[in-house]
Amino acid sequence: MIRWIAFDADDTLWENEKYYHKGQVLLAALLEPYQPNEVVEATLLQIETSNLPWYGYGIKSFGLSMIETAIQLSNGEVGSKEINSILNHLRYMLSQPAELLPGVLETIDILLQKDFRLMVITKGDLLDQERKLTNSKLQKYFEAYEVVSDKLDETYARILSRYDILPNEFLMVGNSLRSDILPVIKIGGYGVYIPHTFTWEHEQVSGTSSHADGYFQIESFKELPGVIEKIKTL
Ligand SMILES: [Mg+2]
Repeated sequence: MIRWIAFDADDTLWENEKYYHKGQVLLAALLEPYQPNEVVEATLLQIETSNLPWYGYGIKSFGLSMIETAIQLSNGEVGSKEINSILNHLRYMLSQPAELLPGVLETIDILLQKDFRLMVITKGDLLDQERKLTNSKLQKYFEAYEVVSDKLDETYARILSRYDILPNEFLMVGNSLRSDILPVIKIGGYGVYIPHTFTWEHEQVSGTSSHADGYFQIESFKELPGVIEKIKTL
């Protein structure tokens, strides 16, 4: 029986990727004299992905990859004006309020009334993720807030053993099949996938289906209590 529900944070509880998307648009504009939009987008993704093992996830890592892309695609021509625009955008991202997605607050209330224990498992910069949690005013609802460097099956297994949770007592909710859903299914837990309009290409997995891979898909956060009831009867 499910006792614990864990939530991804970015683009599950609050908006996030749209600020990264704005950064991509800015970078394409800065590099317009050198390369077309598609090349900028593809190079940024490739540089971000190759930097992940070094810098991890989050805004600071994104910023370093933006700068590296700008230098590479302009053959070293970009100057302090362009670099400064990138830094300003990073500061803008870091100062955004945590904008809750529709239905989050009401749904969390319902889940608490049903006696579920709640936690958050998120990647990203520790300081930024803590800032957003404080801003979101959701802190009081969660018993645990885990900021991890990656979300692999062993990451989840480690968290479950730390809190003394069996896999079949654990359900993870998130917008990334790669990070939030498939690793949890792999260790024997439940996954509820809520797609978001913007999902970083790195987090997308092709060729999966809820039917074949054993997760549940809903369109909005509000459907969560309903789908949990359905899982309980399986
Ligand atoms: Mg997410």
